[in-house]
Amino acid sequence: MAILTSVEAMVHCHGGNFAPVLVRKILVTGPNLMTLTIVDHPLVRHKLSLMRDKATPTNQFRQLLREISHLIAYEVTRDLPLELCDIETPMRSMQAPVLAGKKLALVSILRAGNGLLDGVLELIPSARVGFVGLYRDEKTLKPVQYYFKVPDDLQNRVVIAVDPMLATGNSSVAAIDLLKQAGARNIKFLCLLAAPEGIARMQEAHPDVDITTAAVDECISDIGYILPGLGDAGDRMFGTK
Ligand code: URA
Repeated sequence: MAILTSVEAMVHCHGGNFAPVLVRKILVTGPNLMTLTIVDHPLVRHKLSLMRDKATPTNQFRQLLREISHLIAYEVTRDLPLELCDIETPMRSMQAPVLAGKKLALVSILRAGNGLLDGVLELIPSARVGFVGLYRDEKTLKPVQYYFKVPDDLQNRVVIAVDPMLATGNSSVAAIDLLKQAGARNIKFLCLLAAPEGIARMQEAHPDVDITTAAVDECISDIGYILPGLGDAGDRMFGTK
């Protein structure tokens, strides 16, 4: 029911642009079509509630993020293509399914992305890893790149960009712009919390990038924080405030 409430909140915020198709998989309609997956598993919802609680200390926050990232990574990788490979079990030979194509690339949007990255890497240890660093210019309020290092051959890899918070969407959109400039063609976006404003911004700029999140919150505050949210994800995971 809470998930449906989130969906209703999105419909309210964006004039009916969000059409729920399934509770968990939502086709975001409008001029462009994208898929939003909300991982509404009870374990995810429980852990996320603990993370939201301001009384949860840094070490527990980090541990919960790690645990939750396994569960949402499981969902974001659900459609990865498989191919058959000949193997010998101790009993006989068989054709067994293995992930097809080049190793996938995980790209952390610094700095909070690193918290999600660690957990996702535990699930996909052979993934290649990249980093995008952006800061917000105080005058123009636009994201400015300060670091960019990604694996080669992005055009041949499934790229999963990770950032716990999709709030205004400005930095996520800018990071994906950079990944596309670097050749990425098949990009997925993985976050912990999304605001309707950020989803709409991504849909407008990158409708080909599907979003997987643990929850969609109500809106963003006038200083760009997700409400009710969990505060500053970087500060909460690194104990910087
Ligand atoms: N980034 C955060 O860390 N928290 C928010 O609520 C929004 C953006």
